[in-house]
Amino acid sequence: MNVGTIGHIDHGKTTLTSAITRVLAKKGGAKYVKFDEIDKGKEEKKRGITINIAHIGYESKKRRYAHTDCPGHSDFIKNMICGTAQMDAAVLVIAATDGVMAQTKEHLLLAKQIGLKNIIIFINKADLVDQDNLELVELEARELLTEHGFDGDNIKVIAGSALKALEGDNSECIEKLVDALDALPEPKRQQNAPFLMPIASRVQITGRGTVVVGTVSQGTLKKGEKIEIKGFGGSAESVASDIQVFKKTVKQVTAGEHCGILCRGLKTQGVERGMWMGSPGSVVTTNFLKTELYLLSEDENGRKLGIRSGFTDRIFCSTWDEPGRIMFRNELLMPGEHITAYLLFLNEVPILKNMPFTLRESGKAVRTIGRGLITEVFE
Ligand code: GDP
Ligand code: MG
Repeated sequence: MNVGTIGHIDHGKTTLTSAITRVLAKKGGAKYVKFDEIDKGKEEKKRGITINIAHIGYESKKRRYAHTDCPGHSDFIKNMICGTAQMDAAVLVIAATDGVMAQTKEHLLLAKQIGLKNIIIFINKADLVDQDNLELVELEARELLTEHGFDGDNIKVIAGSALKALEGDNSECIEKLVDALDALPEPKRQQNAPFLMPIASRVQITGRGTVVVGTVSQGTLKKGEKIEIKGFGGSAESVASDIQVFKKTVKQVTAGEHCGILCRGLKTQGVERGMWMGSPGSVVTTNFLKTELYLLSEDENGRKLGIRSGFTDRIFCSTWDEPGRIMFRNELLMPGEHITAYLLFLNEVPILKNMPFTLRESGKAVRTIGRGLITEVFE
């Protein structure tokens, strides 16, 4: 399960992350990662964007966790919108000494917008305040969650001191936190989802059909199963009469595998790169989407100037690219900032919620100026 700490600066996210590894290390479920090692924050580079991020792994009795922690506020924002692994759950850290602060709200709002379902509240620095104060902050936190559309009354709230736990004084709050994480539902596995494969290319095999090439993005396809192909106004149906991986025939392919699928009797015309292949009824197409968009800063090789609502340029997603009009509420979106944006296309694109996309400027040289996440598909 992918988890991460979010919350206002200095509220104790890194201390808590380190404390979790220290407590679980004693049980053999982690390597103790010291505070300084986490805060060094390695860099993750993704087409121009730099995200300072620490990836930490640990294991409870129930499952394995991949935990992310970022040093700076903008790193958290970029990781949530542009990061490589989407979070299944977030631990929102609120220092009892400050209560809810600006970045607490911003991280929570973004978590909601990108569709994060599971949140646990950790009220930190309990060693510095009295019980009444803790209860007040809990109330404030629950209200904030409810305001943002989460189930504020029932979300798990744990209070404690990450620092004390890290110093080996009292690790009860960490044990409670790990129990709360363990109690969250299993994330949906890509393998069990319906078969989908964005088309990278296709080759005609005279007399037999068409071989469609791509990387399976989710699910499994077995030889002999029915498939459909959809996108950009076209659609076709066929049967997978042969599946090949590295030129060898296989019985089935699953998420992550690059393969060629021979589609019996399928005509090559009308099957194009960018369309998607899927099990019948699973490919959704639309020309209107809701997204969370991050505009790269100038430092990240992005634009110098902001963009206005209505700005139109090429959107790249899976194997397709298509001009899209970007619309949002504010007048201007500046480089280094993010916004909830709607995308409008002339043609119907095949798409799925939670997919990443890039916005590229098609000037003299093509360059990425924005990255985003699809948050809603309007059919
Ligand atoms: P981050 O910016 O959210 O990652 O916060 P840090 O983990 O870097 O913590 C910020 C400061 O708060 C550091 O000086 C920590 O030692 C201190 N701190 C963190 N947790 C606690 C706690 O539970 N009690 C006390 N007293 N200080 C804490
Ligand atoms: Mg930190």
